[in-house]
Amino acid sequence: MQNQTKLDILRHSAAHLLAQAVKQLYPTTKLTLGPPTKDGFFYDIQTNEGFKEQDLPKLEQRMHELSQQNISITHRQISKEQAREIFKDNPFKLEMIDLLPGDTVGLAEQGDFHDLCKGGHVDSTSDIKHFKLLSISGSYWRADREGTPLQRISGTAFFSEKDLNDYLQRLEDLKQYDHRRLGKQMELFAFYEEGPGFPFFLPKGRIVYNIMLDYMRKMLKKYNHEEISTPNMLSVDLWKQSGHYDHYKENMYFSTIDDKEYAIKPMNCPGSILVYRSRPRSYRELPLRLAEIGQMHRHELSGVLNGLFRVRSFVMDDAHIYCTSEQIESEVLSLIKMINEVMQQFGFNKIDVALSTRPEKAMGTDEMWKNAEEALVNALNKSGLKYKVQEGEGAFYGPKIDFKIKDSMDREWQCSTIQIDFNNPQNFDLSYTNSKGEKERPVMIHRAIYGSFERFYGILLEHYKGHFPFWLAPEQVRVLTITDSANEYAQNVVDAFKKADIRIDIDSSSDQISGKIKSAQLAKVPWMLIIGKNEQEKNCVSIRYQDGKQEQGISLDDAIEKAKILNKY
Ligand SMILES: [Zn+2]
Ligand SMILES: [Zn+2]
Repeated sequence: MQNQTKLDILRHSAAHLLAQAVKQLYPTTKLTLGPPTKDGFFYDIQTNEGFKEQDLPKLEQRMHELSQQNISITHRQISKEQAREIFKDNPFKLEMIDLLPGDTVGLAEQGDFHDLCKGGHVDSTSDIKHFKLLSISGSYWRADREGTPLQRISGTAFFSEKDLNDYLQRLEDLKQYDHRRLGKQMELFAFYEEGPGFPFFLPKGRIVYNIMLDYMRKMLKKYNHEEISTPNMLSVDLWKQSGHYDHYKENMYFSTIDDKEYAIKPMNCPGSILVYRSRPRSYRELPLRLAEIGQMHRHELSGVLNGLFRVRSFVMDDAHIYCTSEQIESEVLSLIKMINEVMQQFGFNKIDVALSTRPEKAMGTDEMWKNAEEALVNALNKSGLKYKVQEGEGAFYGPKIDFKIKDSMDREWQCSTIQIDFNNPQNFDLSYTNSKGEKERPVMIHRAIYGSFERFYGILLEHYKGHFPFWLAPEQVRVLTITDSANEYAQNVVDAFKKADIRIDIDSSSDQISGKIKSAQLAKVPWMLIIGKNEQEKNCVSIRYQDGKQEQGISLDDAIEKAKILNKY
């Protein structure tokens, strides 16, 4: 926190430095606000000329000159009257002076530049050395779309050249490994005008999707879930009872069948509840773990759609577990293990776990909450995972556990959750008969692991930077022949790998071997099998990996055995 505050001071000072450069180079511009942000700083400016990207180097150059001049930065309080005089040509600053409480306001000064400001600066412009201007975008005065349009110049600043370069490299990586870009390059998925926000998966991309599905089904089996599927469209009466119609209508799509109104499901829970309620349930059946890999549709505004991260149609790896309150702990412990196992499989080794407890406004009795929260705490302690408690941040209908994974670029993603629900069992009058023959209300647990398949797919693509591990890669092996005379042997190699269920292809182009290697690298195929006269004679292969390492003279059988091991999941 201490460092962040220091960094904020540096970055806010860098915003002043930018403003000073702007005023020197473009004297007619009017300054508004220049705060630090999580990753840097910006300054919002009104300008007649309109800044363009190519103006940034010039501004940056002037900032460096001002930094070298070692101008001291001072700050003092002045009367509002004085301030109004100083900023008489700037309506934005005048408005701020009026809005600020008290009779005085702060004034920051450095050389020929001054700014209305509450303070918190470095001592001299020479303290601001390692910075970069990054972009120009549009904004509005007071973030009001009806308000005066402004231009925002954004940049970042750090205490060292290394920190700055690391940050810039990260930005470069994020751009380069953007899943939308990789998806196009690798022909995995696409969006078309005809369905904004509705993803299409292409043949290669669907292979990965299907493996994710297959793996999840293996996990369902291992963790004793039963799979169901429920219809995409159900009567609005159901959605009225579930409360979605009242609270979620804006995000739902509707249709009419035989004069009756239907909704396309935005969630799987009500369908699952119909299955539970379809006949009387006995305690002997509990816990009943009904999984559904269900497609859902949610209306998102076109402005917020973002590749696979924000779509209008997606599939969720959902499950609803109906159990007694005594069973919550063991069920949740098993789910935590399941989530952990799945995330490890995809190489997410850092998982942040948070337990959210009873909020101020909550339904259910004290005893229900106490029992459920204790069960979650016990399960978390038994799991051995570290977790933090977010007091009062649970849903009104029950406590929950959220899991955040950290990807290879150090970003956090929340995908998995376990949510206890006291509301739906009551709302839909769910019951089971206990061992004494009495009716009791079950507890319902909602859980998802990937969350949305589509979003998780996008996260995986960026996490792996396009280099899917062997077991997930759409094309696992590509055969590259050095001479045409090796073609027949190459075909034998392909057949043998196919027999072992390995996804293998052959580069039959007339390119030189160096060209074939290059295109296999671009396609991010984990294994390249290089085959020439030597390999043919010895019935072996040479494996070249994506990192350029090569293993020569491996017998065909050994290579297949090795591939089979890597292909397990
Ligand atoms: Zn300031
Ligand atoms: Zn649910």
